[in-house]
Amino acid sequence: MPEDQALLEVDALEVHFPVYSRGVLRRQIATVQAVDGVTLEIRRGETLGLVGESGCGKTTTGMAILRLVQPTGGAVVFDSVDVGALDKGQMRRLRRRMAMIFQDPYASLDPRMTIGDIVAEPLRIHGLHEGKEARTRRVADLLDMVGLNPDYRDRFPHEFSGGQRQRVGIARALATEPDFIVCDEPIAALDVSIQAQVMNLLEDLQDELGLTYLFIAHDLSAVQHLADRIAVMYLGRIVEVVDRDQAVAGFTHPYSESLLSAVPVPDPKIERHRERILLEGDVPSPLNPPSGCHFRTRCRYAFDQCATDDPELRELDDGRLVACHLYA
Ligand code: SF4
Repeated sequence: MPEDQALLEVDALEVHFPVYSRGVLRRQIATVQAVDGVTLEIRRGETLGLVGESGCGKTTTGMAILRLVQPTGGAVVFDSVDVGALDKGQMRRLRRRMAMIFQDPYASLDPRMTIGDIVAEPLRIHGLHEGKEARTRRVADLLDMVGLNPDYRDRFPHEFSGGQRQRVGIARALATEPDFIVCDEPIAALDVSIQAQVMNLLEDLQDELGLTYLFIAHDLSAVQHLADRIAVMYLGRIVEVVDRDQAVAGFTHPYSESLLSAVPVPDPKIERHRERILLEGDVPSPLNPPSGCHFRTRCRYAFDQCATDDPELRELDDGRLVACHLYA
């Protein structure tokens, strides 16, 4: 498959969770619109950064793509296969090609299992490298690949640092030789001193194994250097998609601009004089998102149309995609 062809296509993906009343007569009283019509594509071998504040639906989007939560609408096509049309057995086979690295290496590893067993678990589930010897060899290779001594395989997660535990999580994600990995804020819970090491490891593994990443982060600085393209998400929707060069030129959507203004600039002279856009208030609840543009209650440019019409994601002259009535 040519590199510029999409490995993953997500079309109008929705994940709405019903909220029920308490008591005997449970009835649906509301809907949480966690993911509300997300459309994006990821090309083979590329990294798409998905950025937005906590609670905006990034992780749910990643999990819905992998069918770890059930979408309530839209389509996911992986390597030309409509994932929604697969039965359980077909989905299980496809899932070998997709993996997830979780944010919290403390919570995502079972403390009662040795790291050897943790890394071997996906091999057991998918019937790969059968037989004790073959499996032990594969686990040793995986630990070595992520920079851990294979002799540590009989140790437990609590014997490792945060960075080492995240390496175990990465080894587990690589076990089934996936093509595509959702990296869900993989460095957010780590000390700043080891964040760069884990980022470098993910980059090296991508080069070596031809991996495709959806890299989720809550701030732009975490994805600016790694991502080939960046999608900005606000309250369940994608509001802007830019490639690396466009990102260097700046962002266009008012929400992306505010995220960018929060990223420190290394030059102290520029840092002292640049404008910071502070957003008022919290992200509105996905239980009751604002009408029209979801960002309108915090947008300094909002005007009448923003309260009535949903802005569509449109391509601008320079190729970036923006959902804002200012650019209609
Ligand atoms: Fe602001 Fe309106 Fe654009 Fe939404 S559509 S970002 S409220 S100007």
